[in-house]
This record gives sequence, structure tokens and C-alpha cells, in this order.
Amino acid sequence: MKFKFSDRLNKLPVYLFAEIDRLKSQVKARGIDIISFGIGDPDLPTPKAIVDVLKKESGIEANQKYPSYEGLLKFRKSVSDWYKNRFAVSLDPETEVLSLIGSKEGIGHLPLAFINPGDVVLIPDPGYPVYNAGTIFAGGIPHIMPLKEENDFLPDFSSIPKDILSKAKLMFLNYPNNPTSATADMHFFKETVKFAKKNDIIVAHDFAYSEVFTGEKENRSFLEAAGAKDIGIEFHSLSKTFNMTGFRIGFAAGNEDIIKGLGAVKTNLDSGVFQAIQLAGAYGLDNELRIVEENNLIYKKRRDLLVGGLEKLGYKIYKSDATFYVWSHVPKINMTSKEFAISLLNETGIIITPGSGFGAHGEGFIRFSLTINESRIKEALVRMGG
Ligand SMILES: *Cc1c(COP(=O)(O)O)cnc(C)c1O
Repeated sequence: MKFKFSDRLNKLPVYLFAEIDRLKSQVKARGIDIISFGIGDPDLPTPKAIVDVLKKESGIEANQKYPSYEGLLKFRKSVSDWYKNRFAVSLDPETEVLSLIGSKEGIGHLPLAFINPGDVVLIPDPGYPVYNAGTIFAGGIPHIMPLKEENDFLPDFSSIPKDILSKAKLMFLNYPNNPTSATADMHFFKETVKFAKKNDIIVAHDFAYSEVFTGEKENRSFLEAAGAKDIGIEFHSLSKTFNMTGFRIGFAAGNEDIIKGLGAVKTNLDSGVFQAIQLAGAYGLDNELRIVEENNLIYKKRRDLLVGGLEKLGYKIYKSDATFYVWSHVPKINMTSKEFAISLLNETGIIITPGSGFGAHGEGFIRFSLTINESRIKEALVRMGG
């Protein structure tokens, strides 16, 4: 028997990293020690107190049942308290917050709630691949918004054609941005609200890196912009904030109707987040925020070390103090980002992510993840210089 994938699955772009994964095994088999800047998964541990809450709560019978669809009110209250303290944004925990099985889950499902076949979704490029996949699964038409360095990797709304705008129902944004590490200021968020209201577009802001910054300036929430809650929601994740990628917990916050739509899709597809994990997440938001500062200090040291070393080697880096990524131009003018990634891996055993893996407008760039320790970064710099 031969089974054919659905058209919607076949429409997804090919997995660009397959070739690099294959090559990695070959290089490893040659006995070369691999240093990977490829992974967007923190190497730092989940705070012990959060793990302890999970251990304790998982033993309690009430937590072993199906959770409530919209999430434990206790978790949603911790989210709304955190938004109030951190951003001075008020959220009703009953109607304006929804627990997610990681923010990726919510991002991927959102188009199913609001997109009909033929509707357009505005998607940043380069960007997190889930915006595109979720759109295609819902039968929507992705329209790319190029993020260019001369615009500090912010989209230019005025360049979107009128006929596209009239069909656009939803826009994804992500600041601090993966992969470029760019940030957005309040001016941009206010312009976004104006643009979305004028054109009747839902804004879905992916705020996964809200707490990851290595400079003085804290990242701002899209929901801080006046009127943002009229047209948008924000996705957040405990994955990067508390090094909890394996736990699978995140949330959506913002406009009540958009939350309702996303919740309705989820009610039909999943049965919520394990309550013990929600209680562990709530504990983190209530008690463990100082870990964020400690982590950021570690990322800052790594960033300074890597950026300083790469610049000495002639790399042209996009300067930013947010996320745990370093976004650099490909240092060889005659190579694509993928060709460069392959040659670097072959020659030095170092893995980086080619920018083209995040979309056509990522071409010409490479991404380094600061999720390895300083001695490994030093070793990598020595190899790259040799
Ligand atoms: C890591 C990441 C997420 C978070 O995913 P989870 O599903 O919450 O673990 C979301 N968006 C971007 C851009 C990311 O890099």
C-alpha cells in the first residue's frame, strides 16, 4: 500500500535542515566533535522550585483528571497578575487568558478559528515556520511581509498591495524576533494597531522572547499599545522564560472574542494542559522571576564573547540585545546561507542555522543560538579562526 499525503501537507516547504542533519551524522562518524549553535532550546535548567511543584502536584489525584479546557483559573490569574506587574496591562483571567500546550500549539491552531479558504494571512519572512504551516492547514493564503535590515527587520505595511489587504484577515508578528533578534518599539506597535483597525485585521503577536534580553531595556508588550486589545492577542510561552521547553505550557492573552475562537478550536481538538504543569507554571510566574535576570546575565556574557569574536573574524552582525540569537550576514559573498552552513560543518564541526530556513528573505544571513556555554563558544571561535 502506498499512502499519499494530503495537498495541505504537501504544500509545506521542504525541511531545509534535513541535509544538514544528514551531514552532521557523517561528520560525527569521522570522529569530529560537533559544536551546535543550531538549537533554539535553552541549555539552562528549569528552576528547581518549579520542578518540585510539578512533582508534588502530579501526585495529587485531582490533577490526574482531564483539566478544564480554558485552563486552571489559578494559572490564568497568575498570568494576569504578571501582565499587570510587568506591563501595566489589565487582563480578565476568566475571558482574556487561555492556557496552551506551548505557544506553538496556539499559533498553529489560531488560523483554524478565523481563516476561511482563500483568506489572506500576513506573515513575516524570515520567521518562525508555524505561522505559514497554520495558515496552510486552514486553507488560507500566506502573504509574505519581508523583514529587511534597512527597516530594522520591521515589516513595511505600506508596501502591501491593496487587493491583498482587502482579503487579509490575520497578521502574525514576533518581537523580539526569531531569527533576527530585532525588537519593536511602542511607536511600531501603535502604528500596527492603527493599520489593523483600518483594515479589519486580527493581530497575533508572538511574544515568546519577552523576558530574554541582554541589555538595559526590557521588552515591551504589544498589548501595552492603546487599542491593541480591540484587535489582537499575544502569545507567550514559559519555554524560554523559565527554560521549560519540555513541559509544554504557554498562553494566549488579549481580545476576548479572539481568545474565544481559539478556545473553541482547542475544545474540539485537545483537552488542555496537565494541571500539575499549569500549577508549576503559575508558581514560576508568581515566585521565580529572578531567574530571568540570572539567565539573561549568562546570555549577555555569551553574546559579548561570540559577537566580539565573530567581528574579529570579519563577520557583520546585526546588533541587538534581545533573544538568545545572534543574526549575522553570511561572511562569504559567493555562498548562500545553506552552502556556508554546510561548508562550516564539514570543515569545523560547527553547526549554525542558515537564514533561508526561515524564509526567502532570510537568505544572506545565518543564525547562532546562544544556548551553549562560554568554553564551547571559545572553542568554536578558535576553530573558525583556524
Ligand atoms: C520558541 C518559540 C516559541 C515557543 O514555543 P513553545 O511552543 O511555547 O515552546 C514560539 N515562537 C517562537 C518564535 C519561538 O522561537
